Amino acid sequence: MEIAAVRWQKAFGSPKKMQVLLAQEYGFCFGVERAVDMVEAAVGHGDRVRSLGPLIHNQQEMDRLEECGVTTISEPIQINADETAVIRAHGVTPGVQAELEKRAGKVVDATCPFVTRVQRLASRAAAENRDVIVVGNPDHPEMIGVKGYAPDHAHIVRDETELADLPMLRNPLVVSQTTIKAKTFFDTAEAVKQKTTDSVEIINTICSATRDRQDAARALSSMVDAFYIIGGRHSSNSLKLLAVCKENCERSFLIETEDEIDVNDLNGVGTVGVTAGASTPDWLIDRVVSFLKAV
Ligand code: SF4
Repeated sequence: MEIAAVRWQKAFGSPKKMQVLLAQEYGFCFGVERAVDMVEAAVGHGDRVRSLGPLIHNQQEMDRLEECGVTTISEPIQINADETAVIRAHGVTPGVQAELEKRAGKVVDATCPFVTRVQRLASRAAAENRDVIVVGNPDHPEMIGVKGYAPDHAHIVRDETELADLPMLRNPLVVSQTTIKAKTFFDTAEAVKQKTTDSVEIINTICSATRDRQDAARALSSMVDAFYIIGGRHSSNSLKLLAVCKENCERSFLIETEDEIDVNDLNGVGTVGVTAGASTPDWLIDRVVSFLKAV
């Protein structure tokens, strides 16, 4: 923390007291926090833990977990009988889950309950021989997993324009990827009505975590002179938070750690806001806040 004060003194001659305000909602969402807790519990039991795909989109947290012995695999075939496999919050297809259960000593299923709900809805509709429209990105792991629950009935579409290629739909159910925009979901759901002569069941399965963080950041951004968003450079929810903060606060910066703070950016700043993406752990946020408080 001394480093921040020294840097400030070099740049501006004397230390300056800044107020540091955290957004009302920030950091780990429920599903990510739960997944990390489940992994830590498995490590605590002495398990050799391997996650199928990166557990979390935050390099610093991944490095910390690796130090605890948690490693990542890309295919179920890589798991051994004396290891514990982890299904991350995005979930997987039933086929992948079965393969992990066959090969691993133990499986920790950290699928977020909000994602499990989408999987169950799709599976139930498929069992009733209905079509399922899932509004989302077909390449996203969550969508690949959901599709596996209704392989012959689910159609993953990004938006209403992608409905054009589909045949007429039978008693369609419309659900969504948990992290998409509400407008995209409702516009697409409305357009589904033109693709069927049956009634359309629309169930909004968007999780509020992303929107809550954006709303809280927007509210705070009009009250501060500078804003730091802590999150991965390639994290889409962190980049969105940056865009939201910039609407009201020109001096908004996306950083991964406190080392990226340039004290020159804080010249004349009386109040600074802080928020963090849904994959940013508390310990990283605490370090940034402590740094800023010491400036
Ligand atoms: S963003 Fe929502 S659905 Fe996704 S893991 Fe977090 S809580 Fe679960």
